[in-house]
Amino acid sequence: MVDLKGLFSFLRRSRFPFKFVYSDAYWMVDLGNHVFPIVKYRLIYEQLLSAGIRKENILTPQPASDSEVELVHTSRYVKKIRQGKLSQAEMSALEIPYCTECVDFAFLTVGGTIRAAEQALEDGVCFHIGGGFHHAFRDHGEGFCVFNDVAVSLEKLKREGRIQRAMVVDCDVHQGNGTAVIFSGKDYVYTFSIHQMDLYPAQKPRSSLDVGLWTGDGDDNYLAALQEHIPRIYEEFQPDLVCYLAGADPLDKDQLGGLRISHDGLKERDRIVIENARRLKLPLVIVLAGGYAPDITDTVDVHMHTIEVARKTELGSSSWLRRADRPRRKSG
Ligand SMILES: [Zn+2]
Repeated sequence: MVDLKGLFSFLRRSRFPFKFVYSDAYWMVDLGNHVFPIVKYRLIYEQLLSAGIRKENILTPQPASDSEVELVHTSRYVKKIRQGKLSQAEMSALEIPYCTECVDFAFLTVGGTIRAAEQALEDGVCFHIGGGFHHAFRDHGEGFCVFNDVAVSLEKLKREGRIQRAMVVDCDVHQGNGTAVIFSGKDYVYTFSIHQMDLYPAQKPRSSLDVGLWTGDGDDNYLAALQEHIPRIYEEFQPDLVCYLAGADPLDKDQLGGLRISHDGLKERDRIVIENARRLKLPLVIVLAGGYAPDITDTVDVHMHTIEVARKTELGSSSWLRRADRPRRKSG
């Protein structure tokens, strides 16, 4: 069991230093006995509530509109999803049943990451209790992912002129194939993915930087790779927004992943990704992505840990986000 006493006693005493995006509608989708534990969203929310988080720290998302989703996805694909006209092959690639609630969930989740990304630009950090559907491509979905919420959010902020460049730090155990393809050739988004090579997806299209590890690699290799690359790419690329996919599936107990990263290892991962971003005053939006431990408590603990690391980091930094203070590259 993870020690979250610090987080809980903090919540009882203080204002939380950032906001969460969450909707009860997230876990009302009936996926049957599906391996994706959609109930984790509610469990995280309930832990925060029972620990005393205030309602003003919870933001409720609106569903993304078709035109927002079409900033990334083809209108043909969006129409197919709306009308339930996916072929059998498309359905089996998606690996989730088709239902009206699933469609609503897909649009709402995109809306949630948009909301969280916008809030991160205001507050410095925002946490979406949801999102991270990185296997969705422009014209089809795969591996439980209907729409690429992260890609849509970054594209929207870019089009609105609210960011010039963004970075995706994808630490889910599965490679971020959809995100890699969507942003390939677009130099305003840097895509980083650290993942297990001998695992879905079989084809791993190139991200800006891919770190491929293998079954059983464990904490040392994983953390050494993050420590080697994360501070460097932040400093070199200077994104206006970092989107962190804090997947729980690298955990040693995960049913799908095999990297065998410990709880402490994942906490250290969070620290490297989050602290370095905040040290450079890079706004950070955190989304959950995957997590398939047989005991859901393990998955929820990983996500709660990420919240705790972010909370500690925000308290440790005396100055809140001030965009003007941040060193910027002249070009690009
Ligand atoms: Zn995953």
